[in-house]
Amino acid sequence: MNNDAKKLIDRLAREHSLSKEDYAFLVRAQDEETAAYAGALAAGVRREVYGTDVYIRGLIEIGNICRNDCLYCGIRRSNTHADRYRLTEDEIFECACEGYTLGFRTFVMQGGEDGAFGVDSICRTVRRIKRKFPDCAVTLSLGEFPREDYEAMFAAGADRYLLRHETADRTHYEKLHPAEMSFENRMRCLRDLKDIGFQTGCGFMVGSPFQTPETLAEDLKFIETFRPAMCGIGPFIPQKDTPFGDRPAGTAEQTVYLLSLLRLMQPKLLLPATTALGTILPDGRERGLAAGANVVMPNLSPLSVRKKYALYDGKLCTGEEAAQCIGCLSRRVQLVGANIVIDRGDVKS
Ligand code: SAH
Repeated sequence: MNNDAKKLIDRLAREHSLSKEDYAFLVRAQDEETAAYAGALAAGVRREVYGTDVYIRGLIEIGNICRNDCLYCGIRRSNTHADRYRLTEDEIFECACEGYTLGFRTFVMQGGEDGAFGVDSICRTVRRIKRKFPDCAVTLSLGEFPREDYEAMFAAGADRYLLRHETADRTHYEKLHPAEMSFENRMRCLRDLKDIGFQTGCGFMVGSPFQTPETLAEDLKFIETFRPAMCGIGPFIPQKDTPFGDRPAGTAEQTVYLLSLLRLMQPKLLLPATTALGTILPDGRERGLAAGANVVMPNLSPLSVRKKYALYDGKLCTGEEAAQCIGCLSRRVQLVGANIVIDRGDVKS
């Protein structure tokens, strides 16, 4: 193994910080041995902080109507092949009720940026879930809003907000998004969310078009300084009806390696082994957990809409009932010596 890489990995584990140049070096130095070294260290750190606990989040995909046109995303507004839907407030609430019975104590409401599913509706639904299940956390992942709207969602009881930054490199951001979307606004949203008091999650796709070791180094440095509570990373997977439909997918190997680096950088980080990782490699999520991840997000959306929330092609678990998903995942998680726990799974302070 590259000895310089090993030294940098040790330093990251010790000091939790590297220069951008060093991060870029580590990205370039990835090979099987280096990844195995980082993975074993990261697994140890995860065990020290979280033991064998793996947290689950019930993902409720509330709708795929979106005003944005992100070039990579299957639910972008220009995709006329997308079969659009919007869950009702009652349907979302019912998903949470089913999830509670299955052992979920966090519900994630995720969806496109749908002006018609307004802030009032979001807040009402959050309040209803929190009133019925005061022992649960609600996470929102509904995109960009003005600060006042985020404040209203927080006041309604939402605990966490996931908004992937997508890339911390402005030029790269502009290649992934149409001109009407702005890097500044994305970053403004993230700062507001954290400032308001949400446990805030950022994140990026691994292997997105135009990504380089330098843009990844920007991502790592951004995460190091922003200090999110959570960080979602998963491979980019092409969706055939998008402008990036013929681009190559990101790799499981690079995703798992970056998960390990993130664990070493920020030992307490809530780090999901994503569905996208399980989609490009059958045991991708298990590998992620074995190399430092500590969260999985099974799908709680009604079966009737699962296939419609198609951010990318080939998405896992679009045909299974939530209960089947959780049974299957429990077994998979145990294969890597970990256990799904019934817990809100807040970030350790
Ligand atoms: N509208 C919300 C939710 C977006 S979907 C928001 O803006 O936050 C959640 C995440 O899926 C995105 O942040 C993006 O990183 C990821 N995603 C979208 N298209 C993808 C693709 N083709 N491959 C992999 N991940 C994708």
